Amino acid sequence: MDTLKIEAYAKINLGLDVVRRLENGYHEVKMVMQTVGIGDTITLTKTEEGITVTTDSGEIPADENNLVYKVAKLLKETCDIKEGVAIHLEKRIPVAAGMAGGSTDAAAVFKGMNELFSLGLSQEELQKLGVKLGADIPYCIQGGTALAEGIGEKLTALPDAPNCFLLVAKPDINVSTKYVYENLNLPGLKKHPDIDGMVEAIKEGDLEGVIARMDNVLASVTEEKYPIITELKEFMEQNGAKKALMSGSGPTVFGIYDKEDAAMAASKKLAEKNLVKQIFVTTFQRKE
Ligand code: ATP
Repeated sequence: MDTLKIEAYAKINLGLDVVRRLENGYHEVKMVMQTVGIGDTITLTKTEEGITVTTDSGEIPADENNLVYKVAKLLKETCDIKEGVAIHLEKRIPVAAGMAGGSTDAAAVFKGMNELFSLGLSQEELQKLGVKLGADIPYCIQGGTALAEGIGEKLTALPDAPNCFLLVAKPDINVSTKYVYENLNLPGLKKHPDIDGMVEAIKEGDLEGVIARMDNVLASVTEEKYPIITELKEFMEQNGAKKALMSGSGPTVFGIYDKEDAAMAASKKLAEKNLVKQIFVTTFQRKE
């Protein structure tokens, strides 16, 4: 086998809390992560030597600054791989959007190179290497529904969240995760999301219980800077969504629908308004 094609799926945060700021500048978080059916297609091909990255996207670097290049370099060095690898990314996941696009591409290259070069690394070993390049990478290697704590790397797998349909919209702005965390007024937060309650609701298969607890403390920062996020949430909730929320550090907004028809109708209406750059109707992506 010289070539491998993999789908790398995006995530949303059903709940996101920041517990405290750590001395090293990182933040301790408590998040409910969920893989969704929006994916990049990644093709890995064995070559004689070196690492190359190509992509159909004009929005991400096609050189050593791409996270997937860093993964290939780390694996080549750690596992002493003599051959090279060519990585091609077909990008569909919105970039700098709060959907872990870079982290999930990285996770897919960890798993794909492990297979392509028969490295024999366990999921845990891949996750340990992954966290060196990004706090969300261990989750992306695991996928599915999970509670993420610590800086995002301490994972507890959860049963699949209850089925529903999602309308996902990415406005034409890019948000820096660093900016959002730096501008979060943690002591000033009036309330924190009930993440423990959401975990219980997921365990009970209680969609209403999950929806009632959907909340994201980072929204206070991003929504203040970009009113379009609030506008999108209001649009979705006025157009059939049971609840709408910003994902991660934003600006992507997702709405939860119990019927596909309703999500499709809202997506059509939103497209006509010309408010956003990318729109998807999808579902939660189950673990393989
Ligand atoms: P998160 O939810 O983890 O904060 P995000 O969705 O906000 O992630 P990404 O799409 O991962 O953000 O992109 C963040 C930055 O990383 C981009 O500005 C981009 O230039 C850079 N980057 C490097 N490699 C990739 C990649 N493979 N895919 C996307 N972005 C990448």
